Amino acid sequence: MPKVVVAGSINTDVLTTMRRAPRPGETVSGETVAFGRGGKGLNQAVAAARQGQGRGVDVAFIGRVGRDTFGDQALAFLQTNGVDTRGVARTDTATGTAIVMVDAQAENSIVVIPAANGEVAPADLDAVTLQAGDILVSQFEIPRATIADFFRRGRAVGATTILNAAPALDDAPDSLWADIDILVVNETELGHFAGVDLAGDAPVDAVAAAARRLMRRPGQTVVATLGVRGALAVTADDQVIVSGRTVKAVDTTGAGDCFVGSVAARLALGDTLPQAMRHANVAASIAVTRVGAGDAMPTGDEVLAVLA
Ligand code: ATP
Repeated sequence: MPKVVVAGSINTDVLTTMRRAPRPGETVSGETVAFGRGGKGLNQAVAAARQGQGRGVDVAFIGRVGRDTFGDQALAFLQTNGVDTRGVARTDTATGTAIVMVDAQAENSIVVIPAANGEVAPADLDAVTLQAGDILVSQFEIPRATIADFFRRGRAVGATTILNAAPALDDAPDSLWADIDILVVNETELGHFAGVDLAGDAPVDAVAAAARRLMRRPGQTVVATLGVRGALAVTADDQVIVSGRTVKAVDTTGAGDCFVGSVAARLALGDTLPQAMRHANVAASIAVTRVGAGDAMPTGDEVLAVLA
């Protein structure tokens, strides 16, 4: 069975809720505070592990945390979820931190401090042996050079590479884009990288056209997640739409991460990409009904109960 290998970020999430988020220069009174495990890498690894649990999918992590209690907690959380953390190094820099503000409309604003995540280096990749068929996953919360090396190594052995190009801060080298098999972006990221203005309810044809602009070589697939509307995948000559599920969303933090990790686990289990997307869409729709990111990821059994 192929494994899922995630090279990515690990954060402590400081989760706060408030009626509305502060504007610049303003202080508002919040309602609740909680500390959780997050970082796109950790979230996606946990999502993959929970979907693969009991089904023989191994998930390995490559990353860094500080020599602090937050690092201890993050490692323990990954291990409890069955993620192999032998590729996670400890550093003297603090564990990455994200401060998440969720308002009464369940919209979130986030500030991320990379800290140890900013030090994940190409040499760290040596900790995990990549094999043909493995599913490699990364995001833009560790250095680009490390991601580029990770995907170069993966493609050289016949692995499948998935990049979640989030957050959309700046661009990445062309060589990295060309080594991606499946690119996953939300509408904001798609608009950013395609250089087009996509409104939240942009017609599907406009989303598909923008997604095609991100292709760098034949054989690539671009998946656009569309929030409550579901997700869309485009290849050079085909497209697949998965409709969103109607649920009562309370916190969308980590929805995209749940989608990406679930797709990776299902591909490792042998699903086609459209099958994996349908599964991931249900998983993510469950995640948004719960508060938190890594902690909100559903199990494979929960998803299969909905699909049954
Ligand atoms: P976030 O940044 O909030 O973690 P995102 O912007 O990366 O998420 P979205 O496109 O908002 O990603 O959501 C990812 C997936 O989660 C969607 O494709 C869909 O399957 C599911 N999803 C998100 N929001 C909802 C919702 N309100 N109701 C049902 N499903 C949802």
